[in-house]
Amino acid sequence: MAELSATLKQATPVVATRGEGVNLYDAQDNRYLDFTAGIGVTSTGHCHPRVVAAAQEQVGKLIHGQYTTIMHQPLLTLVERLGEVLPQGLDRLFFANSGSEAVEAALRLARQATGRPNMIVFHGGFHGRTVATASMTTSGTKYRSGFSPLMAGVQVSPFPDPLHYGWSQEEATRFALRELDYTLQTLAQPNDTAAFLVEPILGEGGYVPGSTEFFAGLRERADKHGILLIADEVQTGFGRTGKFWAGEHFDMSADILITAKGLASGFPLSGIAASSALMEKAWPGSQGGTYGANAVACAAAIATLDVIQDEGLVDNAAQRGAQLKDGLQQVADKHDEIAEVRGLGLLIGNEFRDKDGNPDGATAAKVQQEAARRGLLLLTCGPWGQVVRFIPALVVSEQEVDEATALWAESVAAVL
Ligand code: PMP
Repeated sequence: MAELSATLKQATPVVATRGEGVNLYDAQDNRYLDFTAGIGVTSTGHCHPRVVAAAQEQVGKLIHGQYTTIMHQPLLTLVERLGEVLPQGLDRLFFANSGSEAVEAALRLARQATGRPNMIVFHGGFHGRTVATASMTTSGTKYRSGFSPLMAGVQVSPFPDPLHYGWSQEEATRFALRELDYTLQTLAQPNDTAAFLVEPILGEGGYVPGSTEFFAGLRERADKHGILLIADEVQTGFGRTGKFWAGEHFDMSADILITAKGLASGFPLSGIAASSALMEKAWPGSQGGTYGANAVACAAAIATLDVIQDEGLVDNAAQRGAQLKDGLQQVADKHDEIAEVRGLGLLIGNEFRDKDGNPDGATAAKVQQEAARRGLLLLTCGPWGQVVRFIPALVVSEQEVDEATALWAESVAAVL
């Protein structure tokens, strides 16, 4: 009898048969409040009627086009529509299927455009699981151990992480920028460095927001040395943090922006955006793929943009996020073991610590399991698995947030 690979260890015992909004149902019609959203993917909720209708209509017209052979209308329309939401100047697009592929596309573009080999990434960053992207992922050894040697030419510099350094945000930022200068002076000479690759908020690394000063410092150094700044917004983009792009919280100005996850409400689609001057440096045929910008995925992405706009989902993420963070903070206030509740919009992490103040993945996992038993689906993140994260669909209602917060309070009380 065939079985799934042991690497696919499930975080919850749910076998879902259908989904609606933030709810999942199994064959017995048990309801689960899904605050994982397929790892931040189903931005408009499970099976939003407008996304379903758009995809169904497209399936009946054209499923696959292959963008280096023929062009199709959903892709042309999507490019136009993304032009309305992308940061100014980033108006040339390339599409792929997964976050990892898009990060690889950004890496290739940065190397081609600058003629330089090295990448500087930031500690705790997650950028994917292909060999090149795993080489730039430093949010846990499980993503790299056992399949080295990885890609050469990657240097890691600190990300400002106040809690773990025991510093203020200002101190952590100052430290991170000083270390970056040290890295540029001792390990990765600027003339050999193609790009800084960074998440505005560490995702798999534990939901740690960066700071305005940190990203301004990266921009300054990038401009000074002709290094590109790449923002990995795979998890943080498309309204998740209460702004369309998380970089907006920090006035971050990137040369290449990477998007995926929330872009197509669950259909595989990812992309990178850059200026025309930069994108022109990637010569024809050097980027591509059989399945990139699938017609049904593009139709779903257009519908996703319509829903985000018509239902005010970016504002909803900000408001429901504030409500959720407030509720989670009230729970944390009762338990010393929850060191911090942090994040922006509907991307919120609860960090667990043991009695010595060290990251406590075991307790985080127990609470996450308790929550699943009560019908609240959550995931963990962070290098030690010490953070329980809340990333519901952006359509989540006030009442669903209250329900989840109450189930969380019960789950925490059951363990602590
Ligand atoms: N970058 C970031 C910031 C991510 O969060 C992820 C996925 N968790 C990826 C890249 C990789 O995306 P994918 O799993 O679609 O390859």
